[in-house]
Amino acid sequence: MNIAVIGAQWGDEGKGKIVDLLTPGASVVARYQGGHNAGHTVRVGGTEFILHLLPSGILHPGVRCVIGNGVVVDPVALFSEIETLAAQGVDVGDRLLISDRAHVILPYHRDLEALSEARRGDQRIGTTSRGIGPSYEDKVGRRGIRVADLADTSEDGPLAAAVRANVSARNEAVRGGEAADWRALHAEVCEAARRLAAWVGDASVFLARAFEAGGCVLFEGAQGTLLDVDHGTYPFVTSSNATVGGICTGLGVGPRAIGSVLGIVKAYTTRVGEGPLPTELHGAEGELLRESGREYGASTGRPRRCGWYDAVVVRYAARVNGLDALAVTKLDVLDGLDEIPVCTAYRCGGRLIEEFPAGRAVLAGCEPVYERLPGWSRPTAGVRRYEDLPPEARAYLARIEALSGVPISIVSTGSDRADTILVRGGLVDRWRADRADAPTVQEAAP
Ligand code: IMP
Repeated sequence: MNIAVIGAQWGDEGKGKIVDLLTPGASVVARYQGGHNAGHTVRVGGTEFILHLLPSGILHPGVRCVIGNGVVVDPVALFSEIETLAAQGVDVGDRLLISDRAHVILPYHRDLEALSEARRGDQRIGTTSRGIGPSYEDKVGRRGIRVADLADTSEDGPLAAAVRANVSARNEAVRGGEAADWRALHAEVCEAARRLAAWVGDASVFLARAFEAGGCVLFEGAQGTLLDVDHGTYPFVTSSNATVGGICTGLGVGPRAIGSVLGIVKAYTTRVGEGPLPTELHGAEGELLRESGREYGASTGRPRRCGWYDAVVVRYAARVNGLDALAVTKLDVLDGLDEIPVCTAYRCGGRLIEEFPAGRAVLAGCEPVYERLPGWSRPTAGVRRYEDLPPEARAYLARIEALSGVPISIVSTGSDRADTILVRGGLVDRWRADRADAPTVQEAAP
């Protein structure tokens, strides 16, 4: 059975750690959307790895990793990530496959994004400034450059023409600034194309063969449900489908390939960038969560906005993704609190709202309705068995389950791979038992 790992809040839920944990039972890990705006932190035995574009499975020797057509690829960022990993002793080698249908990010995308954010003023999105949005705009606008286009490096071919047209549009938009030179950029793109070539292929065919061979595939989401361009807090979202539907379009696989869907949630809520966050805490409590949870963006270092657990959000994510199970991360960050508020609904202009609303004005007027649960004094940090959790922590988790209607399968109690509770008989526990006699990677990969 394949498993999709999806962020059920605003990203940064700890998907990297969970994918890393599941990877020993998988032969392939595939990214289907986003780009190097993602920052997945994985800590193994004291060493910290931060992955942006590469799927977290790359840390496991022998596991194949796919960057799907739904991802936008900045070749320079990719090479730099591969070099950083090599310096940390991780060899990507021939384990990476980049879809020939993926779109590329080029420097003019970053210039256009800076311009667009500046023009928005106080309505800015607060993006990661990586050129993600403009690259997706080019894709939908049918002027993007795909990895497959990089094969023709001639001076008068379609790639050269597209670079020239896009640079000239950029020069027109960024009036007054320094004009970009399309020939110099074309030369850089051709150089990058030569370096990329060994990893380029048809990801859909590769995955179909992996399924046939009985290999287990993990679909690794980036960002989260509330940052999805359709289902998130539009326009304060990223430009791709982080929700489960993005897997089919972003990898070229059918819906039955998805298997089970695991939603990742923090035991509280965070977001980076602008936009609504109904349970946001502005005072000392927010600061406490930020400091004990080390809530600073893995990609940009920006402080994350923090708030209490929002069950309206997770119920919504459960519905739009069809979640089969939850992984709750960072439970230990709540250690030592006297009581822990959980948002169960919103109140807006005298109305009780139980389903996550679409309208910006409605969301802006939403006040969280809190239920207060008792905290725990004995720390959960590093606890590895469910029965060793303090009773109040178990009650907190049980309430999260009841409010979303989705069973919890994993609880994370620290940043290290080992600080994890696998709920006995839960989705992941059963899946692991099934995988005991799984084919090896070499057998599964074409
Ligand atoms: P973009 O993806 O750079 O266009 O940024 C759009 C919004 O998504 C901004 O609010 C970013 O802070 C947010 N965002 C993008 N990637 C991530 C992520 O990996 N984690 C959390 N927030 C993200």
